[in-house]
Amino acid sequence: MNQIAERYVKLVLALGRHDADYVDAYYGPPEWKQEAGRASVPLDELGQRGRALLDAIGKVPVPAVELDRLRRTYLERQLSAVGARIRMLTGERLTFDEESKALYDAVAPTLPESHFQSILDQLEKAFPGSGPLAARYDQFRSRFVIPRAKVDGVFKAAIQGCRERTLAHVRLPESEQFTIEYVTDKSWSGYNWYQGNFRSLIQVNTDLPIYVDRAVDLACHEGYPGHHVYNALLEKHLVRDRGWIEFSVYPLFSPQSLIAEGTANYGIEVAFPGPARVAFEKAVVFPAAGLDASQAGEYYRVQGLVDGLAYAGNEAARRYLNGQIDRAAAAAWLQRFALMPKDRAEQRVRFFDQYRSYVINYNLGKDLVRRFVEARAGATASEARRWEEFEKLLSSPRLPSTLQ
Ligand SMILES: [Zn+2]
Repeated sequence: MNQIAERYVKLVLALGRHDADYVDAYYGPPEWKQEAGRASVPLDELGQRGRALLDAIGKVPVPAVELDRLRRTYLERQLSAVGARIRMLTGERLTFDEESKALYDAVAPTLPESHFQSILDQLEKAFPGSGPLAARYDQFRSRFVIPRAKVDGVFKAAIQGCRERTLAHVRLPESEQFTIEYVTDKSWSGYNWYQGNFRSLIQVNTDLPIYVDRAVDLACHEGYPGHHVYNALLEKHLVRDRGWIEFSVYPLFSPQSLIAEGTANYGIEVAFPGPARVAFEKAVVFPAAGLDASQAGEYYRVQGLVDGLAYAGNEAARRYLNGQIDRAAAAAWLQRFALMPKDRAEQRVRFFDQYRSYVINYNLGKDLVRRFVEARAGATASEARRWEEFEKLLSSPRLPSTLQ
């Protein structure tokens, strides 16, 4: 297995030469990266290497120990996703659902417009008046923008709160740390670049106004107990303790991303269950942003309704990437059914161009992770029990299709 794992890492690094977004993180031996950087191996040749590795892993006897068994199935499925990405780069056309199955080991449900319309109808009641609902919602939200000069202070306060809550339940390597940077001109709103050695670089995009809910959402998602913690735990438990080198590379277009995004989004609820979120917003985030804390309850009541529109982005992406609608229609769909302002909808379509069916990893990923953790811990589990199952998932090689 270790030999196959090493060849898998080198294959992923070599594929990174053809696809700039592919290698999201790598902290294995530096000479392997240098080696991949020296020569560009043609895609056909990489495809052959991938198939040879799949053959080799098929011949490895299924181990008796559960964690070893998970390792084998995980690597097999990651390799099959590498193969799919190579075929896409050589021109193979997949439908949205075929692509998400091949790359992320999952297919998002197809929801009719009526599903979203019923949520919009409830929101209509929250914002009575004339004109498009999106404009009324936007006007409401404009009262909850973090002033640019306060963004850094608000994020630092949010990260500290998320970190404290995580450390109360999860043991992290002592040297873990992160740096935060503010960037522009990106198709995403936040990004965690894991550097190895338990360090992350967290980037926050300031192209568009940052609403107050993004502080805790991004602090949890990119930091604690999201991507930073997930990567640090994989490095500690799998790469360092066991020598499973395949986890030192993170190919973005692979099943690992559904687990990464799903745990990062569900982690927000784990860190701030039920009323804890609004309490923290009132006590820490709103004051740091200079916003009226007495409005926090109302803001999160509305956000709770808007969260029901989370899958609307999948529908826009599916239609757009399947060629049923053009980019203007995709942006219009997002404005109508996801209640996004025009500039944010256009940013999101740029995200579809760059990351394609990756969009399902956020919402479907979150729901699959929630179902998995709650099935194991029990829906009415104590906070500690929920953290325990959540940490186990963060520290082990699970596949999306085995979460169900
Ligand atoms: Zn993420």
